[in-house]
Amino acid sequence: MHLSRFSIGTGDRFGLEGEAQIAAFKALRERGGDADIVWNKSNREHVIIGSSPADQERAAAESIRNTAWNGKWFVDADHITMKTVDWFIPHCNFFTIDVAETIGTPASPDARNTYLARAAFLLNKGSAPVEVTKSDLETVADKFLTAVQEAGITYRHIAERRAPGSFVVELSMDETDTPQTPGQVAAILVAVAAEKLPIATFAPRFPGKFLKGVDYVGDVAEFMRSFEAETKIVQWAPKALGLPEDLKLSIHTGSDKYKLYKGIHEIITRLGAGVHLKTAGTTWLEEIVGLAEAGGDGLAIAKRVYTSAYVRIDELTAPYANVVEIDRSRLPKPEEVATWDSVTFVSALRHEPGSSTMRSDMRQLMHVGFRIAAEMGDEYLSALRVYRESVARNVRNNLFERHLVPLILG
Ligand SMILES: [Zn+2]
Repeated sequence: MHLSRFSIGTGDRFGLEGEAQIAAFKALRERGGDADIVWNKSNREHVIIGSSPADQERAAAESIRNTAWNGKWFVDADHITMKTVDWFIPHCNFFTIDVAETIGTPASPDARNTYLARAAFLLNKGSAPVEVTKSDLETVADKFLTAVQEAGITYRHIAERRAPGSFVVELSMDETDTPQTPGQVAAILVAVAAEKLPIATFAPRFPGKFLKGVDYVGDVAEFMRSFEAETKIVQWAPKALGLPEDLKLSIHTGSDKYKLYKGIHEIITRLGAGVHLKTAGTTWLEEIVGLAEAGGDGLAIAKRVYTSAYVRIDELTAPYANVVEIDRSRLPKPEEVATWDSVTFVSALRHEPGSSTMRSDMRQLMHVGFRIAAEMGDEYLSALRVYRESVARNVRNNLFERHLVPLILG
Protein backbone atom coordinates (compact mmCIF):
# COMPACT_ATOMS: atom_id res chain seq x y z
CA MET A 1 0.00 0.00 0.00
CA HIS A 2 1.46 3.34 -0.91
CA LEU A 3 0.41 6.88 -1.56
CA SER A 4 0.26 8.29 -5.05
CA ARG A 5 2.22 11.35 -6.09
CA PHE A 6 -0.58 13.65 -4.96
CA SER A 7 -2.71 13.04 -1.92
CA ILE A 8 -5.08 15.44 -0.23
CA GLY A 9 -6.22 15.42 3.36
CA THR A 10 -9.94 16.13 3.21
CA GLY A 11 -11.39 16.33 6.65
CA ASP A 12 -15.07 15.88 7.07
CA ARG A 13 -15.96 16.96 10.62
CA PHE A 14 -19.58 15.77 10.57
CA GLY A 15 -19.21 12.95 8.06
CA LEU A 16 -21.70 14.25 5.51
CA GLU A 17 -19.47 15.82 2.85
CA GLY A 18 -17.70 12.78 1.42
CA GLU A 19 -19.70 12.76 -1.78
CA ALA A 20 -19.23 16.48 -2.38
CA GLN A 21 -15.50 16.05 -1.79
CA ILE A 22 -15.33 13.12 -4.19
CA ALA A 23 -17.11 15.29 -6.77
CA ALA A 24 -14.09 17.62 -6.58
CA PHE A 25 -11.71 14.73 -7.26
CA LYS A 26 -13.89 13.58 -10.16
CA ALA A 27 -13.73 17.09 -11.60
CA LEU A 28 -9.95 16.95 -11.22
CA ARG A 29 -9.83 13.70 -13.20
CA GLU A 30 -11.92 15.25 -15.96
CA ARG A 31 -9.22 17.88 -16.26
CA GLY A 32 -6.47 15.25 -16.45
CA GLY A 33 -5.26 15.34 -12.81
CA ASP A 34 -5.50 12.78 -10.05
CA ALA A 35 -4.96 12.52 -6.30
CA ASP A 36 -5.60 10.09 -3.48
CA ILE A 37 -8.27 11.09 -0.98
CA VAL A 38 -7.26 10.91 2.66
CA TRP A 39 -10.06 11.52 5.15
CA ASN A 40 -8.30 12.80 8.20
CA LYS A 41 -9.66 13.47 11.64
CA SER A 42 -7.75 13.97 14.86
CA ASN A 43 -8.53 12.60 18.29
CA ARG A 44 -9.36 16.13 19.43
CA GLU A 45 -11.89 16.52 16.62
CA HIS A 46 -13.53 13.21 17.41
CA VAL A 47 -13.79 14.13 21.08
CA ILE A 48 -15.23 17.59 20.38
CA ILE A 49 -17.76 16.28 17.87
CA GLY A 50 -18.60 13.07 19.67
CA SER A 51 -17.71 10.88 16.70
CA SER A 52 -15.41 7.86 16.57
CA PRO A 53 -12.92 6.45 14.06
CA ALA A 54 -15.55 3.81 13.22
CA ASP A 55 -17.93 6.63 12.18
CA GLN A 56 -15.14 8.22 10.17
CA GLU A 57 -14.46 4.98 8.31
CA ARG A 58 -18.16 4.33 7.74
CA ALA A 59 -18.79 7.81 6.31
CA ALA A 60 -15.82 7.48 3.95
CA ALA A 61 -16.75 3.97 2.78
CA GLU A 62 -20.37 5.01 2.20
CA SER A 63 -19.35 7.98 0.09
CA ILE A 64 -17.04 5.79 -1.96
CA ARG A 65 -19.84 3.30 -2.56
CA ASN A 66 -22.45 5.90 -3.40
CA THR A 67 -20.22 7.62 -5.93
CA ALA A 68 -18.56 4.48 -7.34
CA TRP A 69 -15.20 6.23 -6.88
CA ASN A 70 -12.45 3.89 -8.00
CA GLY A 71 -9.43 5.96 -6.94
CA LYS A 72 -7.26 5.29 -3.93
CA TRP A 73 -8.58 6.48 -0.58
CA PHE A 74 -7.42 6.37 2.99
CA VAL A 75 -8.74 7.04 6.48
CA ASP A 76 -6.21 8.99 8.52
CA ALA A 77 -5.73 8.80 12.27
CA ASP A 78 -4.52 12.37 12.38
CA HIS A 79 -2.01 13.53 14.98
CA ILE A 80 -2.14 10.38 17.05
CA THR A 81 0.16 9.50 19.93
CA MET A 82 0.58 6.35 22.02
CA LYS A 83 -2.13 7.72 24.30
CA THR A 84 -4.76 8.12 21.61
CA VAL A 85 -3.96 5.64 18.84
CA ASP A 86 -5.80 2.51 19.97
CA TRP A 87 -9.37 3.22 18.93
CA PHE A 88 -8.14 4.27 15.46
CA ILE A 89 -6.20 1.10 14.71
CA PRO A 90 -9.02 -1.11 13.35
CA HIS A 91 -10.52 1.71 11.28
CA CYS A 92 -7.64 3.64 9.75
CA ASN A 93 -5.03 2.81 7.15
CA PHE A 94 -3.10 6.07 7.40
CA PHE A 95 -1.49 7.10 10.69
CA THR A 96 -0.12 10.57 11.27
CA ILE A 97 2.20 10.05 14.21
CA ASP A 98 2.61 13.23 16.19
CA VAL A 99 5.61 13.57 18.47
CA ALA A 100 5.21 17.19 19.53
CA GLU A 101 5.11 16.17 23.19
CA THR A 102 8.54 14.55 23.11
CA ILE A 103 10.30 17.12 20.94
CA GLY A 104 12.92 18.73 23.14
CA THR A 105 13.32 15.72 25.45
CA PRO A 106 17.05 14.92 25.56
CA ALA A 107 18.19 11.47 24.47
CA SER A 108 20.41 9.29 26.64
CA PRO A 109 24.16 9.94 26.15
CA ASP A 110 24.49 6.52 24.50
CA ALA A 111 21.67 7.08 22.04
CA ARG A 112 23.04 10.53 21.33
CA ASN A 113 26.53 9.27 20.57
CA THR A 114 25.30 6.41 18.43
CA TYR A 115 23.15 8.82 16.45
CA LEU A 116 25.95 11.39 15.99
CA ALA A 117 28.34 8.69 14.77
CA ARG A 118 25.73 7.40 12.35
CA ALA A 119 24.80 10.84 11.03
CA ALA A 120 28.36 12.10 10.69
CA PHE A 121 28.46 11.20 6.99
CA LEU A 122 26.02 14.05 6.36
CA LEU A 123 28.82 16.51 7.13
CA ASN A 124 30.65 15.41 3.98
CA LYS A 125 29.74 17.78 1.22
CA GLY A 126 27.85 15.93 -1.45
CA SER A 127 26.32 13.27 0.75
CA ALA A 128 23.04 15.21 1.03
CA PRO A 129 21.42 17.68 -1.39
CA VAL A 130 21.67 20.47 1.21
CA GLU A 131 24.38 21.66 3.53
CA VAL A 132 24.20 19.98 6.92
CA THR A 133 26.16 21.62 9.71
CA LYS A 134 27.54 20.20 12.91
CA SER A 135 25.02 22.35 14.76
CA ASP A 136 22.16 20.80 12.73
CA LEU A 137 23.27 17.37 13.94
CA GLU A 138 23.59 18.57 17.53
CA THR A 139 20.13 20.15 17.41
CA VAL A 140 18.58 16.96 16.10
CA ALA A 141 20.41 14.88 18.71
CA ASP A 142 19.21 17.21 21.48
CA LYS A 143 15.66 17.96 20.36
CA PHE A 144 14.34 15.42 17.87
CA LEU A 145 16.07 12.09 18.47
CA THR A 146 13.88 11.04 21.40
CA ALA A 147 10.82 12.15 19.48
CA VAL A 148 11.75 9.93 16.54
CA GLN A 149 12.31 7.01 18.92
CA GLU A 150 8.88 7.66 20.44
CA ALA A 151 7.41 7.62 16.92
CA GLY A 152 9.11 4.25 16.42
CA ILE A 153 7.39 2.88 19.52
CA THR A 154 4.02 4.13 18.25
CA TYR A 155 4.66 2.70 14.79
CA ARG A 156 5.52 -0.75 16.16
CA HIS A 157 2.45 -0.63 18.39
CA ILE A 158 0.31 -0.13 15.27
CA ALA A 159 2.25 -2.62 13.16
CA GLU A 160 1.75 -5.39 15.75
CA ARG A 161 -2.00 -4.88 15.48
CA ARG A 162 -2.46 -4.59 11.73
CA ALA A 163 -1.71 -6.80 8.75
CA PRO A 164 1.70 -6.09 7.19
CA GLY A 165 1.52 -3.51 4.43
CA SER A 166 -2.04 -2.52 5.32
CA PHE A 167 -1.32 1.09 6.25
CA VAL A 168 0.88 4.09 5.57
CA VAL A 169 2.62 6.28 8.10
CA GLU A 170 3.29 9.97 8.31
CA LEU A 171 5.63 11.53 10.83
CA SER A 172 4.61 15.05 11.79
CA MET A 173 6.83 17.61 13.45
CA ASP A 174 4.88 20.65 12.28
CA GLU A 175 3.73 21.73 15.71
CA THR A 176 6.99 23.17 17.00
CA ASP A 177 7.87 26.74 17.89
CA THR A 178 10.62 27.17 15.36
CA PRO A 179 10.94 25.84 11.82
CA GLN A 180 13.45 23.09 11.15
CA THR A 181 16.24 23.98 8.73
CA PRO A 182 16.65 21.78 5.63
CA GLY A 183 19.86 20.46 7.19
CA GLN A 184 17.93 19.42 10.28
CA VAL A 185 15.30 17.69 8.14
CA ALA A 186 18.04 15.60 6.49
CA ALA A 187 19.46 14.81 9.92
CA ILE A 188 16.02 13.88 11.30
CA LEU A 189 15.53 11.45 8.42
CA VAL A 190 18.77 9.69 9.41
CA ALA A 191 17.20 9.07 12.81
CA VAL A 192 13.95 7.94 11.16
CA ALA A 193 15.84 5.42 9.02
CA ALA A 194 17.78 4.15 12.05
CA GLU A 195 14.46 3.60 13.81
CA LYS A 196 13.27 1.58 10.77
CA LEU A 197 10.23 3.78 10.57
CA PRO A 198 8.85 3.33 7.02
CA ILE A 199 7.28 6.74 6.56
CA ALA A 200 5.40 7.68 3.40
CA THR A 201 5.26 11.37 4.27
CA PHE A 202 7.08 13.75 6.56
CA ALA A 203 5.55 16.98 7.83
CA PRO A 204 8.24 19.44 8.88
CA ARG A 205 7.59 22.81 10.43
CA PHE A 206 8.05 25.25 7.55
CA PRO A 207 8.95 28.92 7.95
CA GLY A 208 6.04 31.34 8.19
CA LYS A 209 2.64 30.98 9.82
CA PHE A 210 0.04 28.42 8.82
CA LEU A 211 -3.11 29.77 10.42
CA LYS A 212 -6.46 28.03 10.24
CA GLY A 213 -8.62 29.00 7.29
CA VAL A 214 -6.57 31.96 6.05
CA ASP A 215 -3.72 32.55 3.65
CA TYR A 216 -0.04 31.97 4.38
CA VAL A 217 1.55 34.62 6.57
CA GLY A 218 5.25 35.06 5.95
CA ASP A 219 7.92 35.41 3.31
CA VAL A 220 6.76 33.35 0.32
CA ALA A 221 10.25 33.25 -1.19
CA GLU A 222 11.67 31.92 2.07
CA PHE A 223 8.98 29.24 2.20
CA MET A 224 9.79 28.21 -1.37
CA ARG A 225 13.50 27.91 -0.60
CA SER A 226 12.73 25.59 2.32
CA PHE A 227 10.11 23.63 0.42
CA GLU A 228 12.42 23.07 -2.54
CA ALA A 229 15.40 22.08 -0.39
CA GLU A 230 13.29 19.71 1.70
CA THR A 231 11.64 18.20 -1.37
CA LYS A 232 15.13 17.41 -2.65
CA ILE A 233 15.91 15.80 0.69
CA VAL A 234 12.87 13.51 0.64
CA GLN A 235 13.80 12.53 -2.93
CA TRP A 236 17.34 11.76 -1.83
CA ALA A 237 16.44 9.87 1.35
CA PRO A 238 15.02 6.63 -0.16
CA LYS A 239 18.26 5.65 -1.88
CA ALA A 240 20.65 7.26 0.56
CA LEU A 241 19.00 6.12 3.78
CA GLY A 242 16.80 3.21 2.77
CA LEU A 243 13.52 5.01 3.47
CA PRO A 244 10.47 4.05 1.36
CA GLU A 245 10.41 5.04 -2.29
CA ASP A 246 8.09 7.97 -3.08
CA LEU A 247 8.69 9.56 0.31
CA LYS A 248 7.18 13.05 0.13
CA LEU A 249 6.52 16.14 2.19
CA SER A 250 3.24 16.82 3.92
CA ILE A 251 1.84 20.30 4.52
CA HIS A 252 -0.45 20.66 7.50
CA THR A 253 -3.06 23.37 7.88
CA GLY A 254 -2.66 23.46 4.12
CA SER A 255 -6.06 24.81 3.13
CA ASP A 256 -6.43 28.42 1.98
CA LYS A 257 -2.68 28.89 1.40
CA TYR A 258 -3.33 30.43 -2.01
CA LYS A 259 -0.06 32.35 -2.06
CA LEU A 260 1.85 29.06 -2.01
CA TYR A 261 0.11 26.70 -4.41
CA LYS A 262 1.56 28.11 -7.61
CA GLY A 263 5.12 27.93 -6.30
CA ILE A 264 4.63 24.46 -4.82
CA HIS A 265 3.20 23.28 -8.13
CA GLU A 266 6.17 24.71 -10.00
CA ILE A 267 8.72 23.06 -7.66
CA ILE A 268 7.16 19.60 -7.59
CA THR A 269 6.63 19.65 -11.36
CA ARG A 270 10.24 20.64 -11.99
CA LEU A 271 11.60 18.06 -9.54
CA GLY A 272 9.12 15.30 -10.43
CA ALA A 273 8.12 15.13 -6.77
CA GLY A 274 4.83 14.60 -4.95
CA VAL A 275 3.17 16.26 -1.99
CA HIS A 276 0.51 15.61 0.63
CA LEU A 277 -1.68 18.60 1.52
CA LYS A 278 -4.04 18.59 4.49
CA THR A 279 -7.10 20.76 3.98
CA ALA A 280 -9.47 19.40 6.61
CA GLY A 281 -11.02 22.42 8.27
CA THR A 282 -11.89 24.26 5.10
CA THR A 283 -14.74 21.83 4.40
CA TRP A 284 -16.48 22.65 7.67
CA LEU A 285 -16.31 26.36 6.81
CA GLU A 286 -17.88 25.62 3.43
CA GLU A 287 -20.76 23.93 5.21
CA ILE A 288 -21.44 27.21 6.99
CA VAL A 289 -20.99 29.20 3.78
CA GLY A 290 -23.45 26.85 2.06
CA LEU A 291 -26.01 27.19 4.87
CA ALA A 292 -25.66 30.98 4.88
CA GLU A 293 -25.95 31.17 1.11
CA ALA A 294 -29.15 29.14 1.17
CA GLY A 295 -30.82 31.77 3.38
CA GLY A 296 -33.79 31.08 5.66
CA ASP A 297 -33.05 28.69 8.50
CA GLY A 298 -29.66 27.94 6.97
CA LEU A 299 -28.59 31.56 7.39
CA ALA A 300 -30.11 31.62 10.88
CA ILE A 301 -28.02 28.60 11.92
CA ALA A 302 -24.84 30.14 10.50
CA LYS A 303 -25.53 33.29 12.53
CA ARG A 304 -26.19 31.31 15.69
CA VAL A 305 -22.90 29.46 15.31
CA TYR A 306 -21.12 32.79 14.97
CA THR A 307 -22.91 34.39 17.91
CA SER A 308 -22.09 31.51 20.25
CA ALA A 309 -18.50 31.37 19.00
CA TYR A 310 -18.17 35.10 19.66
CA VAL A 311 -19.24 34.64 23.26
CA ARG A 312 -17.15 31.49 23.81
CA ILE A 313 -14.02 32.63 22.01
CA ASP A 314 -11.61 31.84 24.87
CA GLU A 315 -12.78 28.27 25.22
CA LEU A 316 -12.87 27.65 21.46
CA THR A 317 -9.47 29.08 20.64
CA ALA A 318 -7.60 27.59 23.63
CA PRO A 319 -6.76 24.26 21.94
CA TYR A 320 -5.67 26.10 18.79
CA ALA A 321 -3.55 28.83 20.36
CA ASN A 322 -0.63 28.32 17.94
CA VAL A 323 -2.67 28.26 14.78
CA VAL A 324 -5.16 31.11 15.07
CA GLU A 325 -4.47 34.82 15.42
CA ILE A 326 -7.67 36.71 16.04
CA ASP A 327 -7.83 40.45 16.59
CA ARG A 328 -10.97 40.65 18.71
CA SER A 329 -11.52 44.32 17.92
CA ARG A 330 -12.03 43.36 14.30
CA LEU A 331 -14.70 40.73 14.93
CA PRO A 332 -18.15 41.88 13.83
CA LYS A 333 -20.52 42.20 16.79
CA PRO A 334 -23.31 39.62 16.89
CA GLU A 335 -25.87 42.48 16.84
CA GLU A 336 -24.40 43.60 13.53
CA VAL A 337 -24.26 40.08 12.09
CA ALA A 338 -27.91 39.63 13.06
CA THR A 339 -28.82 42.25 10.47
CA TRP A 340 -26.78 40.67 7.65
CA ASP A 341 -28.42 39.08 4.63
CA SER A 342 -27.02 35.99 2.90
CA VAL A 343 -24.80 37.91 0.53
CA THR A 344 -23.20 39.93 3.35
CA PHE A 345 -22.61 36.89 5.54
CA VAL A 346 -21.17 34.81 2.71
CA SER A 347 -18.88 37.56 1.48
CA ALA A 348 -17.48 37.98 5.01
CA LEU A 349 -16.83 34.27 5.49
CA ARG A 350 -15.96 32.93 2.04
CA HIS A 351 -12.26 32.95 1.23
CA GLU A 352 -11.41 33.42 -2.40
CA PRO A 353 -7.84 34.22 -3.46
CA GLY A 354 -7.31 37.95 -2.98
CA SER A 355 -10.79 38.48 -1.54
CA SER A 356 -11.23 42.01 -0.16
CA THR A 357 -14.50 41.29 1.68
CA MET A 358 -13.40 38.23 3.67
CA ARG A 359 -13.12 38.97 7.40
CA SER A 360 -10.06 37.02 8.46
CA ASP A 361 -10.71 37.25 12.21
CA MET A 362 -14.29 36.09 11.83
CA ARG A 363 -13.21 33.26 9.57
CA GLN A 364 -10.59 31.99 12.00
CA LEU A 365 -13.09 32.11 14.84
CA MET A 366 -15.63 30.16 12.78
CA HIS A 367 -12.91 27.67 11.89
CA VAL A 368 -12.53 26.66 15.53
CA GLY A 369 -16.28 26.99 16.17
CA PHE A 370 -17.33 23.53 15.00
CA ARG A 371 -17.89 22.60 18.63
CA ILE A 372 -20.95 24.88 18.57
CA ALA A 373 -22.39 23.04 15.58
CA ALA A 374 -21.61 19.72 17.25
CA GLU A 375 -23.62 20.86 20.29
CA MET A 376 -26.59 21.69 18.06
CA GLY A 377 -26.62 18.00 17.20
CA ASP A 378 -29.45 16.86 14.94
CA GLU A 379 -30.56 20.39 14.27
CA TYR A 380 -27.25 21.14 12.56
CA LEU A 381 -27.07 17.81 10.75
CA SER A 382 -30.60 18.08 9.44
CA ALA A 383 -29.88 21.61 8.15
CA LEU A 384 -26.98 20.14 6.19
CA ARG A 385 -29.46 17.73 4.62
CA VAL A 386 -32.16 20.31 3.94
CA TYR A 387 -29.69 22.71 2.28
CA ARG A 388 -27.69 19.93 0.65
CA GLU A 389 -27.46 21.50 -2.82
CA SER A 390 -25.95 24.74 -1.54
CA VAL A 391 -23.63 23.05 0.97
CA ALA A 392 -22.38 20.42 -1.49
CA ARG A 393 -21.78 22.99 -4.23
CA ASN A 394 -19.67 25.13 -1.91
CA VAL A 395 -17.71 22.16 -0.55
CA ARG A 396 -16.97 20.85 -4.03
CA ASN A 397 -16.09 24.16 -5.64
CA ASN A 398 -13.83 25.25 -2.82
CA LEU A 399 -11.87 22.01 -2.85
CA PHE A 400 -11.70 21.76 -6.62
CA GLU A 401 -11.26 25.32 -7.85
CA ARG A 402 -9.32 26.88 -5.01
CA HIS A 403 -7.17 23.92 -3.93
CA LEU A 404 -6.89 21.01 -6.36
CA VAL A 405 -6.62 23.06 -9.54
CA PRO A 406 -3.81 25.44 -8.53
CA LEU A 407 -1.87 22.79 -6.63
CA ILE A 408 -2.14 19.88 -9.05
CA LEU A 409 -2.97 21.35 -12.45
CA GLY A 410 -1.11 24.64 -11.98
ZN1 LIG B 1 -0.65 19.15 11.85
